[in-house]
Amino acid sequence: MNLALVINLVYIVASVMFIFGLKMLSSPATARQGNLLSAGGMGLAIIFTLVNQHIIAYQWIVLGVVIGTVVGVAAARMIEMTAMPEMVTLLNGSGGLASLLLGWSEYQRNQEVVVFSAFVIALTALIGGVTFSGSIIAWGKLSGKLDGKPVLFNGQQIVNMLLLLAILVCIIFFTLNPINGLIIFLVLIGLALILGVMSVIPIGGADMPVVIALLNSYSGLAACAAGFVIENNLLIVAGALVGASGIILTNIMCKAMNRSLANVLFSGFGSVVESATGQGEQGEAKPINTEDTYPILEAAASVVFVPGYGLAVAQAQHTARELGELLEENGAEVKYAVHPVAGRMPGHMNVLLAEANVPYDQLVEMDDINPIMETVDVCMVVGANDVVNPAAREDETSPLYGMPIINVDMARTVIVLKRSLGVGFAGVQNPLFFKDNTRMLLGDAKSSIQGLVREFKEA
Ligand code: NDP
Repeated sequence: MNLALVINLVYIVASVMFIFGLKMLSSPATARQGNLLSAGGMGLAIIFTLVNQHIIAYQWIVLGVVIGTVVGVAAARMIEMTAMPEMVTLLNGSGGLASLLLGWSEYQRNQEVVVFSAFVIALTALIGGVTFSGSIIAWGKLSGKLDGKPVLFNGQQIVNMLLLLAILVCIIFFTLNPINGLIIFLVLIGLALILGVMSVIPIGGADMPVVIALLNSYSGLAACAAGFVIENNLLIVAGALVGASGIILTNIMCKAMNRSLANVLFSGFGSVVESATGQGEQGEAKPINTEDTYPILEAAASVVFVPGYGLAVAQAQHTARELGELLEENGAEVKYAVHPVAGRMPGHMNVLLAEANVPYDQLVEMDDINPIMETVDVCMVVGANDVVNPAAREDETSPLYGMPIINVDMARTVIVLKRSLGVGFAGVQNPLFFKDNTRMLLGDAKSSIQGLVREFKEA
């Protein structure tokens, strides 16, 4: 059997491993094995790519592998769980840059390319450049190195349109005449880098997770285009898988926020958030303390924890799990209901709860908990706000109207743990706080839960 055939067969095996690995990522119980399976597929693909007879300099590849491994292992070990979005952003940016450089080097190696090759080289430079600079800005906003506020200015759309037009002109000229096209190619790279910056600056820091999912998708498309440039089937397949899964995730997040992608990309939502905080209160909230919360929990046969961004801020996941265990020992059925966009990144709550060793079978999705919410004795809302706001169901004038929420207000009793009656990410008042069956346990969520744990232990 000839070598090229063997390599292509291995590429098919690797692609199947990627696809099954991705499928396994959809459940926390199989996610770890899914990751290993995909990594195994990538390992196999790398080894068989290296036996390709067209490789001319192994020493540079070895150097790259060593540097990449050292940086990758060190970063994975050192980065805090809370800084994961920043890390993912940098990885996306690196993917974009790698594709851009690959397209560039292929062009330098052989400028006498046919129209199709010239076109995919231009696409690689464009998508790779946008992904790289966009990811750097997203990383800056997430890490606080850049101001998280949306940057909006007069004529922004016109500047972007002109930029797109100039890019289009460069692609056409380059594709038609690649032999004398180096200057145009370099201009194209420059414009792509500017477009990446211009695309991300109008987006508020809190919307960055959606942008990260989108940039992830772009990095896949860039890799896919790079696959066409070097005629590598596996790179085309892997890039397409990343591109598709990134866009699916972006879509899931937009739907769960009841916002269109255009609204996320162009509305400058973060600036609205800050100005919308002054809405009046809608009644009188009923405060409660840990001593009075204890008997309610002690008598409950079913308790559902609904975590939100405040759980992450308070780092209350371990104490919440401890309280959950005490409630179970007391005979209650305990569940953790997770909204798809609770927190500030996809899977934020799942990661925190998994870190605290909350059993997977106690995690329930919004669509599974809502139908049985009326049978729940106590809902413990831990630092969640928008994702439990009944205005999304009841108030057509609310910016949240239409967003699917966890219907905690339908439980028999709701205990809301947060520090004040203040608003959440969307900047709107929450009528849940003023419902008859709601009690506000005000204070830092971790301290409040620690107080409840003490009550149980001392009882
Ligand atoms: P919210 O941002 O709506 O509310 C979080 C609440 O936590 C705040 O009201 C705050 O109230 C409270 N809080 C903060 N610190 C503490 C603390 N130490 N102890 C107790 N409470 C605290 O969070 P949700 O999770 O309900 O909703 C997420 C929002 O983020 C949604 O609007 C979603 O669309 C958006 N979003 C989510 C993304 C994702 O991928 N998950 C991506 C982009 C946006 P107080 O200050 O009174 O304590």
